[in-house]
Amino acid sequence: MTTTATLPLDAARQQTSARPCRFCGAHLHRTFVDLGLSPLCETYPSTADLNRGEMYYPLHVYVCDRCFLVQLEQYESPENIFSDYAYFSSYSDSWLKHCDNYCGKMTERFGLGKDSFVVEVASNDGYLLQYFVNRNVPVLGIEPAANVAKVAVEKGVPTLVQFFGAKLASQLAADGRCADLVLGNNVLAQVPDLNEFVEGLKILLKPQGVLTLEFPHLLQLIEHNEFDTIYHEHFSYFSLLTTLRILDAHGLRAFDVEELPTHGGSLRVYACRAEDHSKHTAPTLAKLIAAEEANGLASPEGYERFAAQVKETKFALVDFLVRAAREGKSVAGYGAPGKSATLLHYCGIGKDLIAYTVDRSPYKQGRFLPGSRIPIYHPDRIRETTPDYVVVLPWNLKSEIIEQLQFIRDWGGKFVVPIPSVTVC
Ligand SMILES: [Zn+2]
Repeated sequence: MTTTATLPLDAARQQTSARPCRFCGAHLHRTFVDLGLSPLCETYPSTADLNRGEMYYPLHVYVCDRCFLVQLEQYESPENIFSDYAYFSSYSDSWLKHCDNYCGKMTERFGLGKDSFVVEVASNDGYLLQYFVNRNVPVLGIEPAANVAKVAVEKGVPTLVQFFGAKLASQLAADGRCADLVLGNNVLAQVPDLNEFVEGLKILLKPQGVLTLEFPHLLQLIEHNEFDTIYHEHFSYFSLLTTLRILDAHGLRAFDVEELPTHGGSLRVYACRAEDHSKHTAPTLAKLIAAEEANGLASPEGYERFAAQVKETKFALVDFLVRAAREGKSVAGYGAPGKSATLLHYCGIGKDLIAYTVDRSPYKQGRFLPGSRIPIYHPDRIRETTPDYVVVLPWNLKSEIIEQLQFIRDWGGKFVVPIPSVTVC
């Protein structure tokens, strides 16, 4: 393992703190935003659960003064959160298109073929690896949620039902199963032991292997007010600045980065082993670091403006919904994404303001949103009840959803997009 001059990882880990930074171990005391209490956002109560209570946990987000990692404390074990995880990636058309494009691009750029090996950590239901299988590239998925992994195996994507870390990576390496491409999409945020996980990624890489990581970009989260993407399943929120420090501390070197429109604005970081000099560093890295510095992400004070803009969004959304209710308008939701739990709880919105929501996932239909207990129905419910307003809860898919739901115009229905600021269209 190599360490940076500015951030000696081992020294940092020796520090003790009641609230240590997940990466560098420094004491966390600076608030990024405090969103009060929320239930776990991917645990959807069924009818049988309605007479029971739910656990609420604090959503108090800190930023580390030393490495600027934005993070939540871990209140619940990953086993409890992810063992029967409701999130099936395959239900969004635009996301699947994104994944197919990624596989095509990687196959071409890194010359992957039948003799290559691709490993995805947190491979979900095989939503992505299926496109490598289609291209005859051997794959292995690693997915801790058994119900989700089963779906992957059924569609021909070999999948190990395990949590990924340095231990599993070492076993795979010992079996001669290091990879030409290791990928992790939207998983880094969900890792409680960040250092152990990133160490595992390096172990799994062949000497000239490529690692790609996709994650929502903290700069976009701040700029576009995406506070509802903060929930208990997401322990950490990454800038490029902090990501490079983390990779560097584990002997990995970023050589390229792309900005993507997915999940409200994500980064795809390309990395290799630090000792692999076959890959040239792209100028996009320095450019994006400069953009982050210009937006204050290299100083602790730069993180402090976020809380005020979040509060303003709450006031505007509640104001709109209360006015609609007083005018006798009917309001339904569309979608039941994890992020809706944070939005609805922080804003104090229940069935009295949004009567119901709908979702394409059969797993969620007939269940209820956590905490608010807003019922989730099949999307046909919207045609049947002709609501005056439809609140688009997965605003990151708003173009796709608004296009699919154009029929609400027939009865004068309008869409309400809550983030970055309340928009009626
Ligand atoms: Zn730190």
